[in-house]
Amino acid sequence: MEPIVIVGAGPAGLSLHEKLCESGIKSLIIERKKSVGEYGNRVINLDTFKLFGSPEEIISYKIDEVVFSSPSGEKLRAKKERGYVINKRDLELCLLDRISEPNIVYGKAVIKLNKKKKKLLTSDGTIFSYSILVGCDGVHSTVRSSVTDEQIKTINCYAEEYDGQEPTTVFVEPDLAKGFYGWIMPLSDKRIEIGIGSVNRGVSQKELFHILKKKHGLDKYSRSLKITGGTLPVDFLKREVYSDIVLIGDASGGEPAMGGSLHKTVDEVNLLFNILSEKKNLEEYDILWNGFFLEEFKTQRKLRNAIDSATEKDIDKVFKKLHKKRLPDKGLVTTIFKEIALNLEK
Ligand SMILES: Cc1cc2nc3c(=O)[nH]c(=O)nc-3n(C[C@H](O)[C@H](O)[C@H](O)COP(=O)(O)OP(=O)(O)OC[C@H]3O[C@@H](n4cnc5c(N)ncnc54)[C@H](O)[C@@H]3O)c2cc1C
Repeated sequence: MEPIVIVGAGPAGLSLHEKLCESGIKSLIIERKKSVGEYGNRVINLDTFKLFGSPEEIISYKIDEVVFSSPSGEKLRAKKERGYVINKRDLELCLLDRISEPNIVYGKAVIKLNKKKKKLLTSDGTIFSYSILVGCDGVHSTVRSSVTDEQIKTINCYAEEYDGQEPTTVFVEPDLAKGFYGWIMPLSDKRIEIGIGSVNRGVSQKELFHILKKKHGLDKYSRSLKITGGTLPVDFLKREVYSDIVLIGDASGGEPAMGGSLHKTVDEVNLLFNILSEKKNLEEYDILWNGFFLEEFKTQRKLRNAIDSATEKDIDKVFKKLHKKRLPDKGLVTTIFKEIALNLEK
C-alpha cells in the first residue's frame, strides 16, 4: 500500500503527520525547504493553542486587551480579550519534536502531479506514489493549481519589529489597508511588531506601512530590528476534495475576515484525521468541512465586504457611536467587526 503523501511541512502538514504516525498510518511529508521552522509572529486564541497541544514555553506574549483604532484615531477597547503571541518557527519545531519517527523528505519541491497514476514529480526528478495526496503546501499551493483553476483572493503583508511597548492594536483602515488591517503586536514587554496587509493595488506594502505609521503617530519607531511579512489567503475554495487529493490549511484558502489562520488549519487537520483514521470515503471531508465552516465564512465574507465598501468617515462615525455603547468585554475581533458592519447597514 502506498503511503498518504503530505506536501508541505508547515503547521498543517506537521500536525497531520503527527496524528497519522501516532495511529500507525503510513505517511510521508515532502517539503521543499531544507528544514522546518519558518520565522513569523502569530496571534492565536487559547482554543487553537490547546488544539495544537503546544507547550507554554512557545508563548512570547499573553494578550489581555485589544485596542481597535479608526482612521482618525478614535479608539475602542476589548478588555479581557485573550490570546497568545507565538512564533510559527517555534510551533513548527515543537510539532516536529513530538513526532518520534518523522518521515520527511526535505529539499524537494513538488512540481507536477500525474493524477491518473497517483504519482508526483519533484524538482530533482524523483517520482513518488501516493494512496491519498494531502496538499498542505500553503497559499501558493502547487497541489491546488494542479487540481483546480479556482483562484484564491490574497492579501500581501509587510511588518517590522522594533524595541518598544504598545498595546495590541487593530487599525481598521478601509482605504489604506483595503481587504485587511494594520496592526501592532507586542512580542514581549520590550518588543513590538507593526504591520499592514492589503490587496495588491500597485502600491508597495512598505509604502502603505510608512503612511500607517505616520498617520497613527508611530514614527518614533524608526530603528527596525527585523522585517517580516508574507501572503495571506482571504477566501476559500468551493470544494477541498478532488478524487483522492485533498487540500487543507492555507492551500484551501483562509477566513474572509481574518485571513489564513492557524485556527482554521488545526480544525481542518482534525476533521481530515477523523476521515483518514476511520477509513471513510474522502468525499465525506467536503461535507464535514461545509458543516463546520461554510456558514461562518459566508458571514465573514459579508462583513469584510461591508468594511471594504465603507469610507473612512463611515468607520469613524461607527466608532464614535460604539463609544457610547457598552461593548462586550470579550468576543474577539469579529464581534466588533459585526457591530461596524451592522451600523454601516443602518
Ligand atoms: C504575515 C502573516 C501573518 C499571519 N498572522 C497570523 C496570525 O496572527 N494568526 C494566525 O492564526 N495565522 C496567521 N497567519 C496565517 C498562518 O501562518 C497560516 O494560516 C498557517 O501557517 C498555514 O499553515 P499551512 O501549513 O497550511 O501553510 P504554510 O505555513 O504556508 O506551510 C506550507 C509549507 O509547504 C511548503 N511547500 C510549499 N510549496 C511546496 C511544494 N511545491 N513542494 C513541497 N513543499 C512545499 C512550504 O515550504 C511550507 O513549509 C499569518 C500569515 C502571514 C503570512
